[in-house]
Amino acid sequence: MSLDALAQYFDPYPSLAVFPLGKKTKSVRSPGHKKERAVFGRMEECLQELDMKEPERQALQGFFGLGGSAVFPVFSKKGDELYPHFIRPESVLWKEFSSQHGVPLHPEGFYPESFASLSRDALFAHVKETVRDYLFAAYISKKSRGEWEKFLEESYYKHPFVQLAHEKKRVIEAAEKMNRSSLLSLLSPPEDVSFWRKRIEIVLRPYRLLPPLCSHQKEMSLHSETETMVFSCAECKTKLIYHVKESVLELEEEPDMEKAKKRIATIERLFNGLAAKNTGLLEDLDKVMDWKKRLIKLPKVMEMMEKLYAKPFLEKEADPFSAFLKHLHQTAAPETRDPSELLWLSGFVISPLSLLKEIRQTTFKETEARLELLEVELENALTAEVLPPEKTILAIKQSTLSFQDLTVILTGLEAELQNQPLHLLAQVLKGRTSSKIREEKLDETEQFGYLQHWEEKDIQKAFKKLEKESLIKKQNVGYRSNIPE
Ligand SMILES: [Zn+2]
Repeated sequence: MSLDALAQYFDPYPSLAVFPLGKKTKSVRSPGHKKERAVFGRMEECLQELDMKEPERQALQGFFGLGGSAVFPVFSKKGDELYPHFIRPESVLWKEFSSQHGVPLHPEGFYPESFASLSRDALFAHVKETVRDYLFAAYISKKSRGEWEKFLEESYYKHPFVQLAHEKKRVIEAAEKMNRSSLLSLLSPPEDVSFWRKRIEIVLRPYRLLPPLCSHQKEMSLHSETETMVFSCAECKTKLIYHVKESVLELEEEPDMEKAKKRIATIERLFNGLAAKNTGLLEDLDKVMDWKKRLIKLPKVMEMMEKLYAKPFLEKEADPFSAFLKHLHQTAAPETRDPSELLWLSGFVISPLSLLKEIRQTTFKETEARLELLEVELENALTAEVLPPEKTILAIKQSTLSFQDLTVILTGLEAELQNQPLHLLAQVLKGRTSSKIREEKLDETEQFGYLQHWEEKDIQKAFKKLEKESLIKKQNVGYRSNIPE
């Protein structure tokens, strides 16, 4: 603490060092009034009775930076009024106090018990416990916080359960994944599946509870009765307990190691036994894995398909073969066949499950040939003219709108017909006049009467449809083209 310069020592109480507490207290002049002196006297007796050995006295002196024969700090506020709480060792450990500001008055940095009003026996017990806390803190203070954190880290990796979790990482992760996998619904018998899932909850619980060794700033507290340091992470809401003398980590919930070892082996064996009863499914999955690997053109064809679909005016027909390819493409499959079915199956994310039925209805050869054909078709479609002008884009009742018609309307929307309300646009396209239309000379535009065979309300409907198809975009008033140049 090295506040020796501020400490006051008073003859009748050789074991005590009195410090000024709080910013406003600059120094301690006397051991206080009658009340204070009585308390100091009782404390001195308690400390004498403890009969500390020399190494212990030295440890406390060193820890608090005390002079003379003092071993125990107490605090006085302004006017030499006693502050009736002992300081917590964590408030002193690895801390430097400036001799100008002294020790700040933060109640949480002191023990909650008020020692001024304790009976003699209770005071002795409190002093004894506090000295034990101080001695433990003095021992801890020999090394830096960083060094202790390093010991904690080392003890973490030596903990048998952490080692087991590390060793069985793949099985644990696979079991977690499999537990959420839609493939479970395809395994039979279902009662074996539900039994396995129940086992999983019990077996995986300690692994789920195992605190990670995170790099967050942790709260550290000392516990001299167990000789432990407890590191708590507020973010992870976890605690790691470090046994100082044995250099051993304790978990908040210590799993039974024998059971843990047996159980993790059991869930893998149980699952693999269950999978072995489902050879049909395993064959399908084998196929999925194999096809994904061998259909090397699949990603490229999917990309081309996406490109084509992004083009406007394309009629998006969903054909079963394209859908099958899409399912196969978006399905995740492992690279290799793991001898453990649990590990192997957990690598699949089949999306959707109907893929497994689809794959049974075709052969690899056929699929490969169709894929190649599709690639050529897509290549042609992507390089072809966008659309013939006479191609119908939409129809309302008997009236149809061709690509050419759309082009004329879009041109108008980028010129005179910009910022015109929908009912007026419909009037212009129908070819009706009004004073406003004449005034703005809209009857002289190319669009005037362009859709004269249409009903006005159908023209309005056509605009709504074009907006829905994202071909035009609604403005504050009117519409604009939404087709990139
Ligand atoms: Zn954390």
